[in-house]
Amino acid sequence: MKVLKFGGTSVGSPERIKHVASLISAEKRNVVVLSAMSGTTNSLVEIAEYLYKGNVPGAQETLNALEAKYAGVVGDLFHDGTCHAKASEAIARIFGLLRSFFSEPLTEAGEKEILAQGELMSTALMQCYLEQSGVRSELLPALDYMRTLDSGEPDMPHIAARLRRLIDLAPHADIFITQGYICRNDRGGIDNLKRGGSDYTASIIGAVLQADEIQIWTDIDGMHNNDPRFVEGTKPVGSLHFEEAAELAYFGAKILHPSCVLPAKLHNIPVRLLNTMQPEAPGTLICNTAPDGALKAIAAKDNITAIKVKSGRMLLAYGFLHKVFETFENHRTSIDMIATSEVGVSVTVDDDSRLAAIVDDLKHFGTVSVDRDMVIICVVGDLRWEECRFQAKVLEALSDIPLRMISYGGSNYNISVLVRRDDKIKALKALSQKLF
Ligand code: ASP
Ligand code: MG
Repeated sequence: MKVLKFGGTSVGSPERIKHVASLISAEKRNVVVLSAMSGTTNSLVEIAEYLYKGNVPGAQETLNALEAKYAGVVGDLFHDGTCHAKASEAIARIFGLLRSFFSEPLTEAGEKEILAQGELMSTALMQCYLEQSGVRSELLPALDYMRTLDSGEPDMPHIAARLRRLIDLAPHADIFITQGYICRNDRGGIDNLKRGGSDYTASIIGAVLQADEIQIWTDIDGMHNNDPRFVEGTKPVGSLHFEEAAELAYFGAKILHPSCVLPAKLHNIPVRLLNTMQPEAPGTLICNTAPDGALKAIAAKDNITAIKVKSGRMLLAYGFLHKVFETFENHRTSIDMIATSEVGVSVTVDDDSRLAAIVDDLKHFGTVSVDRDMVIICVVGDLRWEECRFQAKVLEALSDIPLRMISYGGSNYNISVLVRRDDKIKALKALSQKLF
């Protein structure tokens, strides 16, 4: 059994829904996780915001536009009278429910219920469409099995037991459809796994069912080995270790969030990134297999600020780094890259909203200097330190570019350098040429 997850754009129009229906009908007894159609959750968030502000006409207007969009989708999807009626009814019921929130002040529970409707609509539409196409699909209502604990973590034993039972109750189903993102909390109320949470749903389901594979279907052919916007001839990466994928996630590489794939990683379920527009392409496989000696990908993160704190007193002293890090912690700012020497430390942050206050505090401990508009360039792959060829190759490729910081050794999977914004493209190209 596999778990296949399709994101908002993959089900973002009637054509795309039909296309996904044909993709998922090819194999039997898989579990299909759907996001809301693209734009829907944003509209629902907007409706809740209007209601919180007491602006009912604003909410109404947004809702009416959304309803018109869904009427168009239903009209396009269904030629069969019965299926058309069923789908229209399901969608009308949901819009009726949404309108019922307009008469009273919005509560947090109400907001959660509003946000859940996008996934309930996309799965209802897919169910009806599969029925029209003669596919025997079974709906697994996420609100009947997906539950979080008071810690916010998924209640895995509960989910496993409920989900297995629901699947066992439908021995003749060709395919199972379920909602991503939505769940119940420990009090039984409707809740969600945070924005973008459908990937997390797929990972949790894959883990509890011990699936053969979790497939995340999007609009790109897997994870590329460099940024195609700046470098020509990039290629999809065939396979990545979960740790390598986690390193790349920070760089906004179109890849899964590490916390989303944690259940898959812990239960050793491979995750495959696939492209709905090019379903036959192999995509990128993320798994726990041993590192394979290869360099996988290069990625960059913009708008980085580097902060250096130098102190004569750091020499042979202890507690200096602690004070520096504590300063960032006090300002709830996370540090990304670090380089230390005997007399100072440089760190980078991507959120500079508290920078002035941080710098002010750091001045208690040493001389502070700040470099803005920097870029972290990171090379990810099997970079075990016992292998001497990688570090040299990376630095050699960058021999013409001033490097503000170099960081290696935090993991076996990443070497990062900090460069000026103007040197970014040159660095990406030089690395691609040397390493691939
Ligand atoms: N529909 C939700 C969102 O837009 C969840 C998801 O798409 O993963 O955030
Ligand atoms: Mg998403």
